[in-house]
Amino acid sequence: MKEYFKNTYEALYTVLVGMKITFKHLFVPSVTIQYPEVKPKMPERARNRLFVNMDDCIGCDQCSRACPVNCISIETLKATPDDSPGETSQGKKKALWVTKFDIDIAKCCFCSLCVYPCPTECIKMTQVYEFSEFEREDLLYRFATLTPSEISEKQKKFEEFTAAKEAEKLAAAKAKVEKPKPVIEKKVDPNTDKKAE
Ligand code: SF4
Ligand code: SF4
Repeated sequence: MKEYFKNTYEALYTVLVGMKITFKHLFVPSVTIQYPEVKPKMPERARNRLFVNMDDCIGCDQCSRACPVNCISIETLKATPDDSPGETSQGKKKALWVTKFDIDIAKCCFCSLCVYPCPTECIKMTQVYEFSEFEREDLLYRFATLTPSEISEKQKKFEEFTAAKEAEKLAAAKAKVEKPKPVIEKKVDPNTDKKAE
């Protein structure tokens, strides 16, 4: 009988202690949020998904060279004088067409090392941190804006330009070889019967 009352008392006491803690926490501000309905605000320098503003990219490859896991792949094509890629928003003249700018975000370790060396500040971390995909292929981000036909057109233009330059160089070299050397006549000094210098 004594044991019965002791157990009852302990059970009630435990419930009351639990209820006291619960009641206390009703008035404590919550430290959790209702994610995903409520999104946490990221710190200003948080490292999330990368974005590249291709309007400002000059194709210098510095970001790709800084990447420790080689997940940035860039290909460029030299612009010809009659087909300029324009300028960046800071007024820097572009000399290259960026034909490929891929980031394999599945490999990215969000170190941000690609962001710092960019001379035009066009590659940056965004506030987007939810970008899981069902297909791995969808994690390959393609930023280049040129279409395949535009790329082949620019490739053709560049080849024509270099061929014309080469032909120009060859013609100039040929003309130099064929040009007759001027004959320098030397006067004879009548007193010494020697040729004057
Ligand atoms: S954040 Fe780091 S790993 Fe990701 S692309 Fe940039 S340099 Fe490479
Ligand atoms: S460093 Fe900047 S400008 Fe240079 S290729 Fe990368 S994104 Fe483009």
